[in-house]
Amino acid sequence: MDQDLQRFIDYVKIDTQSDDTSETTPSTMKQYDLAKLLKSQLEGFGLKSEIDEYGRVYSFLPGEKDLPTIGLNSHMDTALEISGKDVKPQLIQNYDGGVIKLNDTYSMSPEDFPNLKKYVGTDLIVTSGDTLLGADDKAGDAIIMEVIKYYVENPEEKHHPIAILFTPDEEIGRGPEHFDAKKFGAEWAYTIDGSEPELIDIETFNAAHADIHIQGIAIHPGEAKNKLINALSLATLFDSTLPKFARPEFTTGYEGFYHLISLNGTSEHADMHYIIRNHDSKKLDEQIEKMKEIRNFVANLYPKAKIELSIEKDYRNMKEILDKDPRAVNHAIKVYKSLGINPEFRPVRGGTDGATFSFLGCPTPNLGTGSYNHHGRYEYLSVKEFREMIKIVKALVKA
Ligand SMILES: [Zn+2]
Repeated sequence: MDQDLQRFIDYVKIDTQSDDTSETTPSTMKQYDLAKLLKSQLEGFGLKSEIDEYGRVYSFLPGEKDLPTIGLNSHMDTALEISGKDVKPQLIQNYDGGVIKLNDTYSMSPEDFPNLKKYVGTDLIVTSGDTLLGADDKAGDAIIMEVIKYYVENPEEKHHPIAILFTPDEEIGRGPEHFDAKKFGAEWAYTIDGSEPELIDIETFNAAHADIHIQGIAIHPGEAKNKLINALSLATLFDSTLPKFARPEFTTGYEGFYHLISLNGTSEHADMHYIIRNHDSKKLDEQIEKMKEIRNFVANLYPKAKIELSIEKDYRNMKEILDKDPRAVNHAIKVYKSLGINPEFRPVRGGTDGATFSFLGCPTPNLGTGSYNHHGRYEYLSVKEFREMIKIVKALVKA
């Protein structure tokens, strides 16, 4: 196995799943297993590196002094949807375009995943059907390491000073917490955490979340007439009064949504949690206002119930920052074009660590990894595109 792929395989075999119920930072101690390996490999290349008290790996490769320092960042954790333990990656050499058997129960067919047709005649890495692959984002980790190794082994190749950061807990939205732009030291950076090599992500959602607590009045159903106020009925009334088609399953592109992620309760009380998303920050504010109006509407209908609504904003659309300081995007466009790649831009229907880094002083668009179907057992890596990304990132930091 080639060294770049072997490194990727080594990383995905380490279980680094994060945990959104944990109070610690990082959320799981097993993320240190990968952090320590990355640190020791960077030190093996002769780079100074450290794991800070929050489990973030910072490192630095000095380059041409008159050039701006460019940052490279990826995350170490894997998603919560499915286990990342005992990942057994399978290499499919020279893919024949047929059904890929992951195990006795699960297969991937080009009918279900039409994208696979693009990869006939090339190599893929897939799961063994029981876990995710973890290419999100260990492909990013491996791409960065390969680029660093290249410049360390080829000192005659001039390059920008390179700041390196591996973060835990991206999947639970805590990756950018404790981000130290000064320590990182980059003028701008790139997260390597996307899919298609030709895509440069410069837009994310603006994000907020809402917590609703409804206190009803419970009473024996036999004597409930004109007395019972069923908290669950109020919860469903609330949800059904929101704009019906502003939901993830009905929206795409720049359309925002409300997404009910949990509803728990009894007739006596109910708790609801929503995430609210829009690329346009004004429209997000309007959505937040709409939610408050609906809260008041339900409260007026049922004055004896108690309805508490609290809304907090989370990350913001990084486009705001990248428009003001376009150096990272312009540099990427120039480099992609010099490699004969026409970069494409699509609004991300989600967030990236880079969105928050951008607001914390380091403009950070997101680039591809050559991996797809993240957060599930059908996740796969295109070896060809993974190597294309290594080439692209090498060129981005080249002098
Ligand atoms: Zn990711």
